Amino acid sequence: MPDFEIPALLETVFEKSDISEDTRKLLSAPNRKLEASVPLRRDDGSLDVLRAWRVQYDTTLGPGKGGVRFHPDVDAREVTELAFWMTLKCALLELPFGGAKGGVQVDPKALSPLEVERLARGYVAAVADIIGPDRDIPAPDVHTNPRIMGWMADEFSKINRSHQPAAMTGKPVCLGGSEGRIAATGCGALIVLREWIERQDKRPADVSVAVQGFGSAGGHFACLAHEAGFRVVAVSDSKTAVHDEADLDPRPIFECKRNGDAEGVLYCEKSVADEDGKEEIGQEELLKLEVDVLALAAMENAVTKKNAKGIRAPLILEIANGPVSADADEILRERDHVMLPDILVNAGGATVSYFEWIQSRTGEYWREEQVTERLEARMVDAATRVFDRAEADDVPAREAAYALAVERIARAVASRGNRSYFAG
Ligand code: GLU
Repeated sequence: MPDFEIPALLETVFEKSDISEDTRKLLSAPNRKLEASVPLRRDDGSLDVLRAWRVQYDTTLGPGKGGVRFHPDVDAREVTELAFWMTLKCALLELPFGGAKGGVQVDPKALSPLEVERLARGYVAAVADIIGPDRDIPAPDVHTNPRIMGWMADEFSKINRSHQPAAMTGKPVCLGGSEGRIAATGCGALIVLREWIERQDKRPADVSVAVQGFGSAGGHFACLAHEAGFRVVAVSDSKTAVHDEADLDPRPIFECKRNGDAEGVLYCEKSVADEDGKEEIGQEELLKLEVDVLALAAMENAVTKKNAKGIRAPLILEIANGPVSADADEILRERDHVMLPDILVNAGGATVSYFEWIQSRTGEYWREEQVTERLEARMVDAATRVFDRAEADDVPAREAAYALAVERIARAVASRGNRSYFAG
């Protein structure tokens, strides 16, 4: 399989938006890819050597920005694809960042907390030469969390022999993290959903939601959606799913799962079914529920051409990165499903990471209300631009979002010197 090819949709956008040849060439492959072997000393004294990557896809708009994923399926192709999406996400939200991503091929749940700490520090040591506040700023992603980002920030400061809080985002608040960062992805997704619902003249109480994925993004989203009056009727995690047609209050379920926040525990061990009294259903069954909104908050390719035809929700909210494969996207569009795209819907995390970067650089910290207010303004603005553009051009929201992002990058590329300028 080739390392990475830009999606066909981007080619369409290049044509329709008359994107310059320079930009097309620059966006056709990543700026920089680092592949490393990270040695991990296990608690029993043995040594594992793990494969790891950091990819800076495009840095036209600023330093690279994007999370680090610890997962057994991570490979060069996935990290590159995720870095590509980060490039579009940051451009769409008008953040002064390019796009990057990192990952380690590992099952972190099979490691002890001390082993995870050594891994986090080892990863930073492996990529230290290419990251930093003005180069590339890592953040949490799948199976990385504030505690892990705190270790990473600490390691980077040690390597540089100076305090470097702006080199990482998603840190614990006591180590210079931002208020509101933990709930930011879920909060941003809810703002996008609310904006969409308002455009359809619907009220939250009329809208039922099923949430696939109950980690940090999906869990916060489900709780906030419930509090905002949406009818959250089902949630699932990597173990199982629960359903309650009347309205399932996701808050105690999240609380129960998040016993993982207890001192010394890095990952949740419980499942959504551990809070009793709910009907358990299969995870695939959740995807097929007759609900108004299906929120996909787990991993890439939750919906592929294999299960796309079984989806009944008219609206799909992409909280994970790439949860709908390209061929499933086509099937769903043909069947008139609306998909609100990942680079818009899940951009709240990257946006509050930007706020954290500002705070870490200036040393001036904001209150939670200030963060929420600024996040709200940025998400409403981005959602409005995407929805207006989709309407004006009569294209799906994903295409509109790609066009807005790529046009912004193209303007920056041209401002740095374009063909006619050099041709004299
Ligand atoms: N990993 C998150 C994402 O995919 C956050 C990235 C960041 O905060 O830089 O958007």
